[in-house]
Amino acid sequence: MSRDPDCIFCRIVSGEIPCHKVYENEHGLAFLDVGPLADGHLLWIPREHVVALDDLTESQAADLCRPLPRLGRAMRDVLPAEGYNVLQNNGRVAGQEVMHLHFHLIPRTQGDGLGYRWHPGRYGPGRAEALVAALGGALGG
Ligand code: 5GP
Ligand code: ZN
Repeated sequence: MSRDPDCIFCRIVSGEIPCHKVYENEHGLAFLDVGPLADGHLLWIPREHVVALDDLTESQAADLCRPLPRLGRAMRDVLPAEGYNVLQNNGRVAGQEVMHLHFHLIPRTQGDGLGYRWHPGRYGPGRAEALVAALGGALGG
C-alpha cells in the first residue's frame, strides 16, 4: 500500500494522528473535518496515498466511492441536514490543500449561509463543438 510519511492523511490512516472516525472499510475511512464548514462535515479518504481523482483506475474509483451514498444517508438520518454537498478538490488551483485525495461531505440546512461563487458563462461560436471534439476524442466517445 503506498504511503507518504509526510502526508497528514496518511498519518491519520496509520493512526499516528488521531481523528474522529465515523466509518471505515478496506478502501477508506470517514472522519470529521477538523475545520468543519457545518456540524458533521465529513472527509472520506482512501487508505492509499493518491493525490487526485484521476490518479485512480475506474475500478479503484468504483471501490472507493461505493460508501458515499451510505455516508449521505447517515447525514440525512442523524443530523439536521436537509441536503449535503459532496465536494472534491483536485489541484491547488481548485482549492486542494491536503494532497491526499478526499471527498468532503458537507451537511446543508436552509439559511446556513454556505455557498460559492458560481457565475455561468456562455460558449462563443464553435467552442462547444471544439470541446466535444477534443474531450470526446480523448475519452474515445
Ligand atoms: P482541501 O482544501 O484540501 O479540499 O481540504 C482539506 C480539509 O482537510 C480541510 O477542510 C481541513 O479542515 C481538513 N484537515 C486538514 N488537516 C486535518 C487534520 O489533521 N485532521 C482532520 N480531521 N481534518 C484536517
Ligand atoms: Zn497521503
